Amino acid sequence: MNSMQRSREIGKIIKILERRIPVGLFGKRNKSPFEVLIATVLSQRTRDENTSKASAQLFAKYRTPKQIANARISEIQKLIKPSGFYKVKAKRIREISRIIAEQYNSRVPKSLDELLRLPGVGRKTAGIVMCYGFGIAESIPTDTHVNRISNRLGLVKTKTPEKTEIALMQIVPRRYWLDLNELFVKFGQLICRPIRPHCAECPITKYCDYYTEIYLTRKNQAKHST
Ligand code: SF4
Repeated sequence: MNSMQRSREIGKIIKILERRIPVGLFGKRNKSPFEVLIATVLSQRTRDENTSKASAQLFAKYRTPKQIANARISEIQKLIKPSGFYKVKAKRIREISRIIAEQYNSRVPKSLDELLRLPGVGRKTAGIVMCYGFGIAESIPTDTHVNRISNRLGLVKTKTPEKTEIALMQIVPRRYWLDLNELFVKFGQLICRPIRPHCAECPITKYCDYYTEIYLTRKNQAKHST
């Protein structure tokens, strides 16, 4: 399949998934860039519901980078405890807030390069802030869900989220960059799960390598062994 055909196929996949899993309903888009940034740091290695709880508790008490920068570390820890790894995250959040307050006049920098200079902010977090905080698609934020689904579908053949992001940026038309992360993350949580994906309920089986090469083969083997 050439890159033009692949881009067309990705467009079809995204449209089908958007009908099944509407994006924009999961809270990322109504937040300020600062809230998106802090919530994304809190979301590292935890579940969505824990992130939401920790983020809501923190922002109920402190609204601005300056307020968080001046808060007691023990107070931040208490508020974000539901997110796990709260000691490390509290330190990181306070440091990020201090830098934004002192060096950026309390405004989150609006560029991937500047975001990447903040402590503990990698490409995924920076990309999410650009996409969902500023509405600017400079990259395709790629986490384990995006990595896994892209490989299962056969869109890419890569081993790490970093390599997947580069490969996706070459084949996914730019108009889909904003939605892809949110769509694939939700699809990965609901249907294309890490272990035992729910292929029988999947609306994009005809585009999926895993479905034809692994799921159907296993099903046939199970049928013949009974
Ligand atoms: S068919 Fe299965 S593996 Fe393929 S995208 Fe759907 S759920 Fe994921």
